[in-house]
Parts: sequence; C-alpha cells; structure tokens
Amino acid sequence: MRAAVLKAYNSDLVIETVPDPVCEPDGVVLRVLACGICRSDWHGWVGEHPKVKPGAIPGHEYCGEVVEAGPLATWRVGDRVIAPFILACGDCPECRAGLSNTCKTQRVPGFGEPGAYAEYISVPHAHNLARLPDSISPVLAAGLGCRVTTAWHALTGRADLRAGEWLAVHGTGGIGLSALILGRALGARVVVVDVVAEKLAHALALGADAAIDAREGDVAARIVEVTGGGAHVSIEALGIEATANASIEGLRTLGRHVQVGLPVGHTARMEINMNAVYMKQLALYGTRGMPSWKYPSLLDMITRGVVDMQPLIARRVPLSGASAELRAFGAPMPPGVAVIDDFTR
Ligand SMILES: [Zn+2]
Ligand SMILES: [Zn+2]
Repeated sequence: MRAAVLKAYNSDLVIETVPDPVCEPDGVVLRVLACGICRSDWHGWVGEHPKVKPGAIPGHEYCGEVVEAGPLATWRVGDRVIAPFILACGDCPECRAGLSNTCKTQRVPGFGEPGAYAEYISVPHAHNLARLPDSISPVLAAGLGCRVTTAWHALTGRADLRAGEWLAVHGTGGIGLSALILGRALGARVVVVDVVAEKLAHALALGADAAIDAREGDVAARIVEVTGGGAHVSIEALGIEATANASIEGLRTLGRHVQVGLPVGHTARMEINMNAVYMKQLALYGTRGMPSWKYPSLLDMITRGVVDMQPLIARRVPLSGASAELRAFGAPMPPGVAVIDDFTR
C-alpha cells in the first residue's frame, strides 16, 4: 500500500510502498477514506513526541471502510466506521469503569504504531470504533478528529460547562473552534483569544460573543472586562506558557481551567501563576481524548443538526500535500483544519 513515511524530523514525508497491514484478532483493517492532519502530528514530525521515530507513519484522525475483520471483532466487511484516537483495551479497571481514555494499555495509531496517512490501517481493539452515519461525509468525520472529541469531553466530562456561563477559549485552531461551537450548543457565552485577525473574524462568524487579539496587550484583564468578572470556564488550546497563564488569570473566583493544548517542548515545563490559582480557588483540569462510548452521542448531535461542525474543515489535500500542512503548524495558521481525502497521489 501507499503510505506517507517520516524519514527525518522536520523533513517532507516520503510517499512509498510499504507492506499491507495485518489484521489483529480483535481488530479490523480499514481502507482509509479520510484522515485529519493535526497539531499532534506536528509534535511528532518535529521530534518532540517520544513515540514518534523515523520510519513512522503519522495519522490518528481517520475513518474508513472495513476490508477485513478479525475473529473477535464484531464489524463486517463493508461497514463504515470512525475511530477515536485512543484505542483502549476494554478489559482493565479503567475501561470497565467507562474511563477508556485513561486506559493504561491503550494504543494510538501514529504514535508508536502505523497511522492513517496511508491507504490502509490496522485498527486493534475494534470495539472502540463507532459506526459512521451515512449523512456524515468521511471528510467531516475525519475532520472531527481528536479535536472535537477532546473539546466535547473537556467541556462536558471535565469542566461541566453549564448554560449561561462564560467560556474563554485560548487558541482558535481546531480544538478551539470545536470548543466554541460545542460551548455555544451547551448554552454558554464564548470569548475567543488568538493572534491571527483572520481566525478571530472566523470565530466571530461562527457565533463567538467576543474576540480578543492577544497582540494588543493584557488578555486576562480584557476577558475579565468582557465577561463582567472573569470566565467560568477557560480552555487552553495551544500548550504554551503565556496562554496557560492568560487562561488562569482570566477566570473568575472558583473558575475551571482545562489544559487541552499539548504542552510544547521536550520537557513541557511552565511557570504557572499559582497565586491566582490559590487566591481565586481555581480548579485545574488536564484532559486527553474522550471515552469511546461518548462517540455515538456526539455523532447524533451532528446528524440531528444540533451542531454544525462543517466550518471546521478548511482544506482537502492529497496524501502528498500532508507535508506542507505539517510545516504550516510551525507558524500562525489560517482558520480550520486540513483533511487528506485522496491517497492515490
Ligand atoms: Zn483498558
Ligand atoms: Zn489529533
């Protein structure tokens, strides 16, 4: 099969023919219909992710058609499915408690095993997959990626965002836009922060109540002003120190900060304003992914038209276009996400 292979960090992926994937007993092999390109892929591509080594095939945001099913898998050839990026074992105490995104033996394609920047992918633990509704296109399904699922769980499973509250979103990339759209659907008012005017305008067009350009000075003070005392919930969607502190400092008393952005850098250490955490009695949450059982409810909200995630999708690219998209993460980016939907070129 054709696959895009990372040969050296920070260099273009090389498209080459590699052996077809082997189906595992509890897994399936999918013909990849579409695969999202994500900032997490960029972390691996620049050499910051410990599990991404030369020889890796990236890609953890995919949907596909089952072409082979293992004897323990319940899917049939021809089924169209979408995968969460975390493939949980299904058998450990965490999985049995419904907390499959915390499974200690989870597997993540693209990080230590072949991903979906390829014509086919072997997906173990296929019980994590969800059926892809006919009304959702493969490009949209893949574009939901880790961003929509992560944002949904951050808001509902961690911060417990409630109608009428103010939500601040720092960084309007894929996860930030997802948090904006989902936060509004939950009845919150939303203020977004970014450094790219085009992205702020895009967020306002998607219904943000206020937009703050971080280049124009004290972000936290302006959030406090816009929200009349500070946000109730704040999502940090970039993973850098300045935005993490702006997020914490822009919260009101008893506010909830959710660290959604993967911290940047090899050590990922940050100097955090703990005085604000102490004085305002804030809650700090980390979050990663979403338990796979929440997938059908999220897909149902989309098929019923409760939320429209289509504005997330900015570009469709061929496999050979993935390198340019990865490279673009190194600088401020235009709004929306890119999805690979052509694996023949
Ligand atoms: Zn498990
Ligand atoms: Zn992702």
